Order: sequence, then structure tokens, then C-alpha cells
Amino acid sequence: MKFLFRFVLPLLLILPGCEDDAGLKNLAPTVLLISMDGFRWDYMERTNTPNLDYLVEHGVKAEALIPVFLTKTFPNHLTIVTGLYPENHGIVSNNMYDPEFDDWYYIGQGSEPVQDGRWYDGEPIWVTAAKQNQIAMTMFWPASEAEIMGLRPDEYYIYDGSIPNEDRVEQVLDWLDYPQKKRPTFLTVYFSDLDSWGHAYGPESTEMKSAIVEMDDRIGQLLEGLQKREMDDKVNIIITSDHGMVQLSRDRIIFLDDYISLDDVTIIDWSPVTAIRPDEGKADLIYDTLKDVHENFHVYKKEEMPEHLHYREHRRIPSIIGISDEGWSVTTHDQFDSQPNWYTGGGHGYDPAYKSMHGIFIAHGPAFKEGEMIEAFQNLHLYELMCHVLGLIPAENDGKLDSVLIVLRD
Ligand code: AMP
Ligand code: ZN
Ligand code: ZN
Repeated sequence: MKFLFRFVLPLLLILPGCEDDAGLKNLAPTVLLISMDGFRWDYMERTNTPNLDYLVEHGVKAEALIPVFLTKTFPNHLTIVTGLYPENHGIVSNNMYDPEFDDWYYIGQGSEPVQDGRWYDGEPIWVTAAKQNQIAMTMFWPASEAEIMGLRPDEYYIYDGSIPNEDRVEQVLDWLDYPQKKRPTFLTVYFSDLDSWGHAYGPESTEMKSAIVEMDDRIGQLLEGLQKREMDDKVNIIITSDHGMVQLSRDRIIFLDDYISLDDVTIIDWSPVTAIRPDEGKADLIYDTLKDVHENFHVYKKEEMPEHLHYREHRRIPSIIGISDEGWSVTTHDQFDSQPNWYTGGGHGYDPAYKSMHGIFIAHGPAFKEGEMIEAFQNLHLYELMCHVLGLIPAENDGKLDSVLIVLRD
């Protein structure tokens, strides 16, 4: 009889099908990856954030999450889920031209290329999960609406910024309510408020406070939902952001048309990193003209890009790149004059070495340490980290688990 209680009954309890109703006793390791677009590393100091504070107190917070170059939304979201530098996952900016496809990539609601899998060279974690028979569901994440390597998240949404944040959180909770056989082990949710407000009003504005409070409220809603389901200490929550934000100024403008004829080039991406595709035979002229023309605008040939940026290899990086110093913007006189509100708010895209470009990392759950503050680290390592927590064998990538072992519980 003793044997029955000590060995057989506990064994039965952990076998599939012998779970309680909610299937919680043996909830498989689960990761909920949250992106709060444009959440700068220091925003939490601006106002009261009781729910984020709760996660920090009982979890791990890094001083900052260091993005990859260039510090825009799509390159960084793809790096977080693939562990690859943009030159290796192929999304080298939000706006790109591919000479082989002879086609353009752009982002935003209704974007067709975003949904077209041929643009993505890396293996996102939801594909890694699907290959290894785990279930993934995404309440928005750049590229999760595309079929990549013949696979998709089991459930996903085409991007629609009008879906209220509350509904996004409710969708995640509903997915966690699925019966065990259908329940996802990897989930995402994405919020754009901080980025939009940061662009509109600037990162130092008082308006940012209400967007920070909105993010904190959504975390409160999530935690309450998880507590109701007795899942609050079972789901691993990772809060990230893709980049920070810096104040722009109409006094810090590089007017490209002061220096070159725009008839000689195609500008693939304007600011703050200018991707220049010179017309045939014009490359030397453009490079020589722009090279030392403005002390806040650093112009490189693709093959001479600074090594620390890891931004040389992909065919979608054009032959000449101009990089603005922090807070500077690139435009033309016409654009500048016709858009009096531009360059009055915030921007990003600059070298990730600037502190203003850094994002956030907070992790909470059974996999993570409790009450630990750690140094800033690169978002490149998150793919390895999440694969480790989920028990997935990662695809080849540029990240290292060793660099983030410190966040894991012993
Ligand atoms: P950024 O200015 O680089 O931070 O880009 C932010 C913008 O990316 C958001 O305002 C959205 O319009 C857009 N965006 C975010 N996720 C998606 C998506 N999955 N599909 C298309 N556009 C998106
Ligand atoms: Zn962003
Ligand atoms: Zn933005």
C-alpha cells in the first residue's frame, strides 16, 4: 500500500490525461514573449508602475536590453525571435529594396511584403517550436503573419493596430485556457503605444507617462488573468522592447539635396540611417561627395561599415550607407518645408551604442531568478534563452546561451 501511495499514484498524476481539469499539474514549460515597442530602458522611472514592479521584484530585470543595428522595429523583432543579426535574417530595415527580387519591403498595417515569407532568411522560434512539435500562437509579432519554411504559428493575427490592447491580453489568456493538447507553449503579444507616443511627443514629454501607465495596466490585467487560472507562477513572462527613443530637432537636420543630385540615386531608407543605391556609374561620385560633407553624418561603403554594427553581408544593404549622429535626421528641403511637425518628436534607428536606443528586459516565472538585477545584455541572445526554457534545440544563430545564463534559476 505504501508503495502505491509513494510511487504509483504520483506517477499516474503526472501522466498525460491524468491531469486535473485545467491540466495545470504538468503545464509544459511555457514562454509568453511580450514586446512593448519603443519602451526605453529608463521609462519605468517616470511614473508608478506597480505591476511591472511586481514582476521585477519577483523576477529578473536587466539594466537595459541592447538592440541590434539598425535600431528599428522589424530588424530587432526578427533578431529577438531568430538570434540572428539583421545581415543574417535579412530584415536589415523597415524599408528595403531587394535587387534579386527587384521588389520593395515596407511595414505597417496592410503591408503585403510583411506577410510574404520569401523575405525572411532566419528561423523564428515559432518555426523551431513547430518543427519540434510544440504549439505557438502569436497575438502580433513582426513576421508571425508570414509562412516561413512552410510553417506558421498555430494561431496568429494579421497586424491590425486598431485591436485594443485589452483584447490582445484577453486573447493570450484564452489561448492559455485551451485544453492541454492544444495549449501553446510559446506565445507572443505586441503593443505599439509607447513607440507611437514617443514619435509624436518625444521621449522626455509628460505625455509619455500615460502610455507607460497603459502598459503597466495591461501587465496588471495579464497577471490578474493568470492568477485566476492559477498560472501566475507557471508561465514564464519575458517583457522586451525593440529599441528606445531620442528627441529629434528641426535644428539638427542633414539636407541631402544640399550635397547630391537625387536624380543620381535611389534612397531606399531616409533617416536616421540613409540607405543609398547609386545609379550605375555614380557610386564613386556619390561616396566622394558625401564622405566628409557633414560632421554629424558618417558615410560608409557597405564593405567598410564599422565592424561592431554587423551590417555588411546582405544584398539588401545597398552600396552606400550614411549614419546620423544621435538626434540628427536626414531629409530634403521640400520634405522639411512641407511637414512642419516632422522632427519635433522622437526618433530611433541610431547606433545601438547610444544609451537612448536601449530597451527593456524583465523576466518572471519558474525558469527565472527571483529579485535579481543584472547588467545590460544584447537582444541577440534571447532566442537561445527562450529555446532553452522551452526545451527546444535552437537553429544555428548568432546568440549565446552563456551570455544570459545569469537570468536562469539554478
Ligand atoms: P518603428 O517606428 O520602427 O518602431 O515601427 C513601428 C510600427 O511598426 C508600428 O507603428 C506599426 O505600424 C508597425 N508594425 C508593428 N508590427 C507590425 C506587423 N506585424 N506588421 C506590419 N506592421 C507592423
Ligand atoms: Zn519599434
Ligand atoms: Zn518607432
